Amino acid sequence: MMKNLVLVLLFCLILSACQDTPSFINFTYPDGKLKALVLSYDDGTIQDVELAQLFDENGLKGTFNLNSSYLGVTRGWPQQNGDTIYQRYVPKDSLLIIYKNHEIAAHGALHKNFTDITHEEVLEEISIDIEVLSQLSKREIISMAYPFGNTNDSIAVLLSKTNLINGRTVSDTYNFELPDNYMMWHPTCHDSKALDYLNDYLELKPQALKLFYVWGHSWEFGDEQRWNNMVEFCQRIGKANDIWSVGNGELTQYLLAIDRVIIGENSISNPSDNLPVWIQLSIGNKLLEAGQSLEINSSMP
Ligand SMILES: [Zn+2]
Repeated sequence: MMKNLVLVLLFCLILSACQDTPSFINFTYPDGKLKALVLSYDDGTIQDVELAQLFDENGLKGTFNLNSSYLGVTRGWPQQNGDTIYQRYVPKDSLLIIYKNHEIAAHGALHKNFTDITHEEVLEEISIDIEVLSQLSKREIISMAYPFGNTNDSIAVLLSKTNLINGRTVSDTYNFELPDNYMMWHPTCHDSKALDYLNDYLELKPQALKLFYVWGHSWEFGDEQRWNNMVEFCQRIGKANDIWSVGNGELTQYLLAIDRVIIGENSISNPSDNLPVWIQLSIGNKLLEAGQSLEINSSMP
């Protein structure tokens, strides 16, 4: 009897202690969201104008990977079947109009295949992009998509030493997990399959951070059915208020900031030179500003 009473008292004590100090549960995206969306489009052809408008109409943010040496030109791309496809690229002086609300990223100045050229040439392809695109857009260029999606470990390491903090491939994962390596970022799927995964993502109630990563080319939307599918995708996902539509660069910066937060036994602290990060506590979601520390209770989950 006495033993039971002691146990009850002990339980009450633990409970009251927990109420004073919240326990850390998880990191979240801004505003407590757990789902993100990246829309990554390659080459910078003139059809980007319409696609960027579609994103704008639905409150979505795109990441547009441009070949800086082709800006403003028309060039033919020989196809395997002997045909030539002519591509017209967006004009140099319009980047800040077309991509006003979107991220501008690198895709190799001349769209060379990185696995066919020397490391020196790879660096040249990327440094020209970074220089030209940052000059034209007055923004920092921190994201890229590999031309033809081709890369390997040594190229990823090489490019991690530049200004870039992520590099996207075309190796679809068909899942909503975050990548292990930001410089070898495998997307969820090409936009031709995006509608197949939409319902699952809209209905998902995750316990941890998830990402739906869609990639493609605006010049593929010459096919009316494909365009209509994209319109439907954007309209439906644009209405979801629990999804963070974000550029690949901003997402990477946020994930890197999370990695830098120090979780101790009794406290969680955000370094003073870090970005603000959102955390989920037993008492609700909270923004942890740079330089801020919080006492936490480590005895709870
Ligand atoms: Zn491309």
